[in-house]
Amino acid sequence: MGSAAQKRSIPPGAGSPKRAFLTIYPPSSAMTDQAILPVSASPESAGAVESYRTAGGIERFLPAGFRQLEPTPELLAELAEASERLETATPEEIIAWAHERFAPHLTMATAFGPEGCVILSMLAKIAPETYVFNLDTGYQFIETLDLRDKLARRYGIEVDLLQPELSVPEYEAKHGGPLYKTNPNQCCFDRKVKVLKAASEKHHAWMSGIRRDQSTDRSRAAIVEWDKKFNLVKISPLANWTKKDVWKRILDEDVPYNPLHDQGFPSIGCWPCTRAVAAGETDERAGRWSGTAKTECGLHTAEQQDGSGI
Ligand code: SF4
Repeated sequence: MGSAAQKRSIPPGAGSPKRAFLTIYPPSSAMTDQAILPVSASPESAGAVESYRTAGGIERFLPAGFRQLEPTPELLAELAEASERLETATPEEIIAWAHERFAPHLTMATAFGPEGCVILSMLAKIAPETYVFNLDTGYQFIETLDLRDKLARRYGIEVDLLQPELSVPEYEAKHGGPLYKTNPNQCCFDRKVKVLKAASEKHHAWMSGIRRDQSTDRSRAAIVEWDKKFNLVKISPLANWTKKDVWKRILDEDVPYNPLHDQGFPSIGCWPCTRAVAAGETDERAGRWSGTAKTECGLHTAEQQDGSGI
């Protein structure tokens, strides 16, 4: 599935390099303690707090007794009303609403696609203290991981890299080889969905960069909705934007983006499951899990708990 060019970047089985998670960048308004604290006050002033360490190795704090939201009829009605009202709002207005309603328990997941980079540029102006994470499967392109550092330098938002329990060598040894070749649904479930599930237990709401025009699966996304798979409120600020809108913002504001997009990769995931698209291929996700019926990793679909159907 992956191209020769990608395999030169990261040898199969080697996984992605470990990064220094607490790199110190030039101070900015985003690089306060709140960049890693999901509580509005410091641990010292917030009273009783529980600390935990993320899969990316960062220590974070929660109010003692933190509980996930329950999808009560009242909450579902509120979300439906907000979603309808925000249909005509700008992405910045949607993000501002999400921040006001759910911070400090709002988070964002990004795979560093163009949409994620644009949302990060907006978050830098609206709520730079928001905790943002990436599902670092161990199979990401080096270019993707380099983009994380570029975005941190530009916006002061250091995206946490959440990794699965097993490293790539451990995982491949356990399964007798790379599972992405034989059972990509299980591989995505183990290395993405399970990691997001663990992260979701510490939050009330998450933002993603999906757009309705990306695929049939995503065409039904609401601006705000209850995500029953992760027990979170899901907010999609760019649901109504087109690919052209996203790239206009990137070019207008010189937002950093993955250089692989200039090499024929419109959608970028793990290198074994991503290929460049040919001229004339109009489906921007045609290069993902090419040659299989799989179209999604399972983060944005409602069904399944065991990896089937993702
Ligand atoms: Fe595994 Fe491919 Fe899914 Fe990445 S995209 S987690 S390599 S199956």
